Amino acid sequence: RRKWRGVVEILKELEEACDTPVGRLRQVVDAVAVEMHAGLASEGGSKLKMLLTFVHHLPIGTEKGTYYALHLGGTYFRILRVLLGGERSYLDVQDVERHPIPSHLMNSTSEVLFNFLAFSLERFIEKEGNGSSSSQRELAFTFSFPVKHSSISSGALIKWTKGFEISEMVGKDVAECLQGALNRRSLDMHVAALVNDTVGALSLGYYHDPDTVVAVVFGTGSNACYLERTDAIIKSQGLLTTSGSMVVNMEWGNFWSSHLPRTSYDIDLDAESSNPNDMGFEKMIGGLYLGDIVRRVILRMSQVSDIFGTTLSMLSEPYVLRTNSVSAMHEDDTPELQEVARILKDLGVSDVPLKVRKLVVKICDVVTRRAGRLAAAGIAGILKKIGRDGSGGITSVRSRSETQMQKRTVVAVEGGLYMNYTMFREYMEEALVEILGEEVSQYVVVKAMEDGSSIGSALLVASLQS
Ligand code: ADP
Repeated sequence: RRKWRGVVEILKELEEACDTPVGRLRQVVDAVAVEMHAGLASEGGSKLKMLLTFVHHLPIGTEKGTYYALHLGGTYFRILRVLLGGERSYLDVQDVERHPIPSHLMNSTSEVLFNFLAFSLERFIEKEGNGSSSSQRELAFTFSFPVKHSSISSGALIKWTKGFEISEMVGKDVAECLQGALNRRSLDMHVAALVNDTVGALSLGYYHDPDTVVAVVFGTGSNACYLERTDAIIKSQGLLTTSGSMVVNMEWGNFWSSHLPRTSYDIDLDAESSNPNDMGFEKMIGGLYLGDIVRRVILRMSQVSDIFGTTLSMLSEPYVLRTNSVSAMHEDDTPELQEVARILKDLGVSDVPLKVRKLVVKICDVVTRRAGRLAAAGIAGILKKIGRDGSGGITSVRSRSETQMQKRTVVAVEGGLYMNYTMFREYMEEALVEILGEEVSQYVVVKAMEDGSSIGSALLVASLQS
């Protein structure tokens, strides 16, 4: 009872449903640009919240001093200290700690969560020993969840994403919660800025290269921000900034369009998630979800055939297959696909023949290719909105006198998925060239920013002081 044919049918359906020809990607690009306009025009005007960040100056390289950052991501939290000597080349990241967020904290209480963060900061500072700081320490709180800011250093949590479920926290001021927990421990630290992780990445990008105007994070979830002209933020009329611009946090994880290639696996994943009908784009491209989409396809195949054995496996357990394992299987270059065999065995599926291992690699490829290509469409959508996609007509460097000359645009990118999953990165970059065309692509530089979210947030705090 192998029923290979049924399995092939499922694979074929998956491939068709995940198909992303460039024409379809262009429709997604247009939809992103349209939704950006709508989200800027009125509060609630789009699924894209286009949140104000109150960041209107980015670090320029002359900042000085010692600054701290605490970053609460979706999977990890990080603490670091940077020393700035007043020139770009004097950026010294002195200590970095990265720990997984203990899973019980994700559905605990805000008090438990913030006490834990304060405790971790205290231990971090203790390592410095005596005398390393006589004045109050300035801290950036990098917070990778949607916040409605009232200033650069305060803002209320709009909702949780990425599996967090502390409902009593929604609506509370996130910076105040952290400052309160720090005060309870008598830590002499000041939460000087509340920074979305994408804004941190943009800050580091800009610090090194002022052509950086867009930043995207591909980690547990996914999000993007960019530098917008204040007069284009129509929903906040009267908003004045000395620079004439402000960083807008798109919260693009919540983007949705009928042009997105959705499968029955996506629908089921969404329905069974902690935030159904929410974060549709993130659920197609975020690191938390890619593994679970792959798991659902394998599970479906195991239900119509016995190619994955007949004994009870762990395949029906949500999120058992992590995206780290997906990339390990996808990039398995051993001749017999031993890594694939090992990972499947860990899931309780032993002795799968080579043919089936290859099938699993194919599933990883289809799911990740779709993710990478959609991610590229998202980036191209932003470029379109700000007129950097060449659609206004491009004039090459050879005729500089023309007014329409294409500007160099740097997109800062960060996050564990992008940094560690080569195939994701390659599919994304390939699709970006396909969408923009060879010529315009020459002006668009995608730059990886390792730990950019945290380092950049610390730089932002530094720029506020100077
Ligand atoms: P956070 O989202 O907590 O800020 P990261 O940006 O480091 O943290 O992203 C972590 C996520 O990146 C993991 O949950 C996982 O989904 C993804 N990731 C990390 N390493 C890999 C890898 N080797 N292959 C694929 N995905 C990875």
